[in-house]
Amino acid sequence: MTETGKSSLFPTYTRYPITLVKGEGSRLWDDTGKEYIDLMSGIAVTNLGHAPQAVKEKLVEQLDQLWHVSNLFHIPNQEKLATLLTDNSCADAVFFCSTGAEANEAAIKLARRYSQKVLNNGRYEIITFNMSFHGRTLATLTATGQDKVKEGFHPLPGGFVYAPYNDIDAVRSLVNDTTCAIMLEMVQGEGGVLPADPEFVKQIAELCKQENLLLIVDEIQTGIGRTGKLFAYEHYGVEPDIFTLAKGLGGGFPIGAMLGKAHLAEAFSAGSHGSTFGGTPIATAAAHAALDTIISEKLSERAAELGEYTVKKLESKLAGNPLIAKIRGVGLLIGIECTQPAGEIISEIHKQGVLVIPAGPNVIRLVPALTIPQADLDQALDVVCDVLSQKASTISSI
Ligand SMILES: *Cc1c(COP(=O)(O)O)cnc(C)c1O
Repeated sequence: MTETGKSSLFPTYTRYPITLVKGEGSRLWDDTGKEYIDLMSGIAVTNLGHAPQAVKEKLVEQLDQLWHVSNLFHIPNQEKLATLLTDNSCADAVFFCSTGAEANEAAIKLARRYSQKVLNNGRYEIITFNMSFHGRTLATLTATGQDKVKEGFHPLPGGFVYAPYNDIDAVRSLVNDTTCAIMLEMVQGEGGVLPADPEFVKQIAELCKQENLLLIVDEIQTGIGRTGKLFAYEHYGVEPDIFTLAKGLGGGFPIGAMLGKAHLAEAFSAGSHGSTFGGTPIATAAAHAALDTIISEKLSERAAELGEYTVKKLESKLAGNPLIAKIRGVGLLIGIECTQPAGEIISEIHKQGVLVIPAGPNVIRLVPALTIPQADLDQALDVVCDVLSQKASTISSI
């Protein structure tokens, strides 16, 4: 925004009236010097807080060596990061890209190509879920089970059908001889912090085995320790054939990844998929340092403990508050569902120096860094609860 209030940007975002200029750990400062405690981490991006030392060191080291090289050459940092990812997950092969939508595009393409080039069954249709979110490219917004992201973008690519989340019979009824995969989030983040039922996920995995379908899990928001496990599928005792990462993967540096089981690797032959910026030496140095820190410092476990603590604290401090419909959380992906739109409440929380974000119209989403100091978390939760109590008292006094 210029001094005259004019912006040369497309107006694709509703922006909060805050300009952040500095970040360190779980603290942020705006251009007036006001300090905030960060309970949003970008949107589940800065899982190690802002400017984490371990990532910064490796980034600076790599900046001195080599920034960019084409994927037509070997990139040792890519190999190192891919090995760290496959050593710590059910996947055997990794494709690097730059964003979440691009990772899901790769997953969709791999599922189709595996069906059409390896299984030779010509299948293409993917079952996704109502209220899901998979990205903003044409294919991923089509995969997304929310009409609002599709308005004005028709015609959309074919090959997607939608089921109600946590309804296995509805999923079964959608399987036909064109179905190649089922794609879902283990916790719907943008949809309102809605976790999948354990029984539902087991049944989905069984259905995929029976019908020879690929199970694709979108871990873009849930991955990298966020839910109290390195990857959210670990909570459910299932192994996806394909899963996708982005947001938290680079510790704040842009990088995405699509990971798959060994038998899928042959479906992507040389030249079948690619990305100029996928897995640059810099991006993969940052992500390796971030992931290594999350694993070696056991930050997934910390997210599980702090998440449980947070939900308990919210439940006790907000007990009886008529604005609260439900408090849900898996690790440090937490939703406070309100009985009314939460926009005004969120703005007031920002004014009081704590940054939170919505998830759907009624839900306040808390996604602090996995490293947030206990004292910062307590202070921020007190602010959130105080604002909610104040708002409740103004309603009940009317
Ligand atoms: C954010 C998100 C995406 C899209 O990621 P981009 O990097 O914005 O393209 C896809 N799926 C889920 C679950 C997400 O949370």
